[in-house]
Amino acid sequence: MKNYLVQINDTTLRDGEQAAGIAFSIEEKIAIATFLNSIGVQELEVGIPAMGQEEAEAIRAITRLGLNTHLIGWNRANISDIQASLNCGLQRVHISIPVSNIQIAAKFHGQWRVMLDRLRDVINFAHDHGLSVSVGGEDSSRADESFLLDVALYAQAWGAFRFRFCDTVGILDPLTTYNKVRQLVDYLSIPVEMHTHNDLGLATANALAGIQAGALSVNTTVNGLGERAGNAALEEVVMALKRIYGIEAGIDTKRLLELSRLVARASNCPSPPGKRSWVKTPLPTSQGSMPTGFYRIPLPTSRLPRKRWVGNAVLYSVNILDGI
Ligand SMILES: [Zn+2]
Repeated sequence: MKNYLVQINDTTLRDGEQAAGIAFSIEEKIAIATFLNSIGVQELEVGIPAMGQEEAEAIRAITRLGLNTHLIGWNRANISDIQASLNCGLQRVHISIPVSNIQIAAKFHGQWRVMLDRLRDVINFAHDHGLSVSVGGEDSSRADESFLLDVALYAQAWGAFRFRFCDTVGILDPLTTYNKVRQLVDYLSIPVEMHTHNDLGLATANALAGIQAGALSVNTTVNGLGERAGNAALEEVVMALKRIYGIEAGIDTKRLLELSRLVARASNCPSPPGKRSWVKTPLPTSQGSMPTGFYRIPLPTSRLPRKRWVGNAVLYSVNILDGI
């Protein structure tokens, strides 16, 4: 598999399915994984093996497909979770560990040394069983920055191949994200991955800020599905990387519309009509018609997604209030 500067690690099948009211069938999961693989997504977070039999069966079915993309399972820092990942035939595991005081208080009774010892032991167990290990700092955005860096450095020293910065509760803005991620990138030799949430509508912007700071991997979901307000949308991140920064993530963007429709059907959750990657008809204006001036206004469309990039034509209408 060719390596690209920025890697997409799509978590539609894990965080995407954590969106309220969404549960994919095994067939739908296989279809989504196969499609993501076929358009060149380099890594898929396929679920939480320890969650139960049905989830494990779906993950096992995906591992048996023989896809090119790397498959990774999401785990808490405990041996039984890693064992469940092994039972699914996975070769990569993501281990999530709380790093903010609030989360450490809730999950480790405030005992951060116990948390670190557990992380080390679970990483060692995973390595002893031939797994590659990624570590994620749950609630990184609210963590003390020195402590977050220490945890990431320990993870690196214990052999993790990547560290995930998680804006778990979706509270960051792009500038703050940049500064926090920059500190990690400056001190780590392993890649940093972005995991952002859309509670304030900034998931994609924050993911991009992390990349500008030097992160090399992004967790995305198709249509931005995900817990609460969702995650950074695959189609937005890929197109923004391509159009704003000229960064190719190795994705066949012409098939994004088809992918978006597949996931919209499976999740029974249509994308908003104004979503640029798959709008197919002009949006109505407040007057119910296209202003005649539309075609004469030299809109800066050269930087907007077009049919040849995302698989569909995009037409924009102008509201009388546009630009105010
Ligand atoms: Zn998340």
